[in-house]
Amino acid sequence: MTAATPATTPSSPHVMNTYGRLPIALSHGLGCRVWDVNGREYLDALGGIAVNTLGHNHPKLVAALQDQVTKLIHTSNYYHVPLQEELASMLVQRSGLTNVFFCSTGLEANEAALKLARKFGHDKGIERPEIVVYEKAFHGRSIATLSATGNPKVQAGFGPLVEGFIRVPVNNIDALKAATEGNPNVVAVFFEAIQGEGGVNPMHMDYLRDVRALCDQRDWLLMIDEVQCGMGRTGKWFAHQWAGIKPDVMPLAKGLGSGVPVGAVVVGPKAATIFAPGNHGSTFGGNPLAMRAGVTTIRTMEEEDLLTNAATVGAHLKAALQKALAAELASGTVKEIRGQGLMLGIDLAKPCGALVQRAVDDGLLISVTADTVVRLVPPLILSTGEADQIVAILAPLISAFLKEAA
Ligand SMILES: *Cc1c(COP(=O)(O)O)cnc(C)c1O
Repeated sequence: MTAATPATTPSSPHVMNTYGRLPIALSHGLGCRVWDVNGREYLDALGGIAVNTLGHNHPKLVAALQDQVTKLIHTSNYYHVPLQEELASMLVQRSGLTNVFFCSTGLEANEAALKLARKFGHDKGIERPEIVVYEKAFHGRSIATLSATGNPKVQAGFGPLVEGFIRVPVNNIDALKAATEGNPNVVAVFFEAIQGEGGVNPMHMDYLRDVRALCDQRDWLLMIDEVQCGMGRTGKWFAHQWAGIKPDVMPLAKGLGSGVPVGAVVVGPKAATIFAPGNHGSTFGGNPLAMRAGVTTIRTMEEEDLLTNAATVGAHLKAALQKALAAELASGTVKEIRGQGLMLGIDLAKPCGALVQRAVDDGLLISVTADTVVRLVPPLILSTGEADQIVAILAPLISAFLKEAA
């Protein structure tokens, strides 16, 4: 182990220095494995941050994309794009919602959701619409989405923030009621079904159902950011489906294109006709290459039964981690192992960013979020054997780390 290795290194004099980067560069991948430019192999438990649904170099995705680039990469939304219609109908069928707007990224999907909520209000005569958002939420890094984000580090230096947000704690229906009591300007409630960047914090099933009921009662839009937890990651298409509810607005991105940038806002009847031509748009949104990636991702997930795989391998991984870290869980140095399917967080009692480099040194890619949470969001093709390898590398690293003096 190279304790002297800096945690992050600048990449080049010309790429803007916006990321703390690990001192490796990846060159190619296959399945859940990637290799760096020096030929070292890594097991990928991060999947490009919940993006590489089908893993790396999946033959079906590669073939579909190769075929698509010889036909059309991009046209424009001045014309009909049949692949948009195909992907929209696939998303509608699997969500039980009705309509889809396509864009390219998560923040763009969330911006569309925020615009929908505001116009929903304006259409009802609410001049200063307000949207309920959550502590520890992450919705992106544009000015509006960072304002909706509940992390002061993301917001610092970028004020003035966008107004019109009311912030509440997660999983507390009384706090939500109290914060909105008698306020006629509320138009929407907006949250992640499982907070990702905030530390893998799931919304409770009862809470999801209570908020759904409250939104119906008050004529608010329920907007669930499934950018990270959606697209099969938890073992259902969308994480909120575990609670048996439907949102009115659901932003998607990350896993939807299995690595090709694809974003979408899927909406139900209450939000389907808020936008009219001219209200919103995106140059790249829904282009044929992106749509082909989305269609192929969903089709392949079904052909390979990846929802079941995410659920079963995820449950196996969680149980194996709980077993390997049983002593640490008992002593409280590991506070909790939470999440569902292949979206898991191991919450330690101390900041653990140093583990990311140590895992790299041992051939494993992970991330640490919210300072203390080791996050695992591997490709949904992960096998039981690969899950066991993750545990075999990670559990000893965590145990050793927790024994060191703070
Ligand atoms: C990653 C993420 C976003 C932002 O997506 P980008 O594609 O980086 O803009 C928004 N919401 C959630 C829940 C995310 O995890």
